[in-house]
Amino acid sequence: MVSTLENEVCSIGTTLETVLATPEGRRIMSCIQCGTCSGTCPYGEHMEFTPRRIINMLRRGYIDEVFKSDSMLRCVACYSCMAKCPRGIRLSDVLLPLVKEQTLINTPEMPAELQKGLQNTLRYGNPMGESSRKRAQWTATSPVKVPIMAEIQRPVDVLWFVECYTSYYARGQDNSRAVARLFKALDVDFAILGNEEKCAGDCGQLTWESGLFETLTDYNMEIFRKYRFNRIVTGDPHAYNAFRIRYPLYGFDYVVEHTTPFFARQIDRLKLKLKRPLNYTVTYHDACCLGRRAGHFEEPRQLLHAIPGIKLVEMTHNRVNAICCGGGGGGMWLDTYFKQKGMERLSERRVKEAIQTGADVLVVSCPYEISRFEDALKVVPHDKPILVRDVMELLAEALED
Ligand code: SF4
Ligand code: SF4
Repeated sequence: MVSTLENEVCSIGTTLETVLATPEGRRIMSCIQCGTCSGTCPYGEHMEFTPRRIINMLRRGYIDEVFKSDSMLRCVACYSCMAKCPRGIRLSDVLLPLVKEQTLINTPEMPAELQKGLQNTLRYGNPMGESSRKRAQWTATSPVKVPIMAEIQRPVDVLWFVECYTSYYARGQDNSRAVARLFKALDVDFAILGNEEKCAGDCGQLTWESGLFETLTDYNMEIFRKYRFNRIVTGDPHAYNAFRIRYPLYGFDYVVEHTTPFFARQIDRLKLKLKRPLNYTVTYHDACCLGRRAGHFEEPRQLLHAIPGIKLVEMTHNRVNAICCGGGGGGMWLDTYFKQKGMERLSERRVKEAIQTGADVLVVSCPYEISRFEDALKVVPHDKPILVRDVMELLAEALED
């Protein structure tokens, strides 16, 4: 499992020089140039400067040449290099975002799609550019009542941080409705922030957009301080990542859980409610922030095994070796750029593996993946239909009425 955050060097605004003066920076210099990072990188063959080469250039004093290349724009923050480095060098947390920031500063034209996503997030609090006043509209279609903190005015056990794709994107809302049903089935005392919620900013920090990330962090921290709750639960592994790893640097000290481990922790009670058999053969895609970065490989599988009738088959690349969907680190808004550069979309690479398993359903645990894989399936040929569903959607479908 990848090491957890333990030090100060991740804070936004940190320079390369500052990092290199820290113990973590010195660890970067302990690189043995084995090339594991570059070999495991899903876009390594498209990078002029792979992670191994970046460290080599840094040591030789040629890092400015790296900043002029767009290699790091091709990093989708999949954590594979960091998870496999034999020296424990935290490439994806520390070095690569700093290089990416410098790349973006030196790039005459930031890819338009990425620029728009980041601008929307700053202006509207979500990358789609939707009005913040519509953020809680999905609750009107929820089969169970979804309490809002500002309305109930009392402490709750779980503050559910819904996040952007699960608030605004139609297929993401299916996930939200499912989570609401599951909370209700287990009598969880929960509420959401409603229109007061804004993006947690994980992609902002992984593209090292320091101003954007700090604006969002300051805003969300202020909102959290308004209310009383025991824990934050979110279905978005990117928000989970940001709260776990970056927000503590800004005073965040709440317990935070992703929905998958949250429900897996209560699997005995949940099993009693999962009465409806779902006769699907499924395959599970490990989300990078949940799997490689946080080590939650087994919980989603435990939940799937708890559903009567489900048969789980694995893809060739699973758990720590899972192929990234390509959406992290700003990749959600770089598909056009990648296409222009002749790069295969990672989401297409992944669904090809899922199709090979013969599964009826490709199961995910990140809201990005629903849109990425459903989109990829439109262009990747397959004879047998295959659906994309979140673990939460399948659990809710198996609930007794
Ligand atoms: S895997 Fe680690 S030790 Fe090997 S080249 Fe990459 S950074 Fe260096
Ligand atoms: S985080 Fe993933 S995409 Fe980025 S350099 Fe490392 S292996 Fe490559």
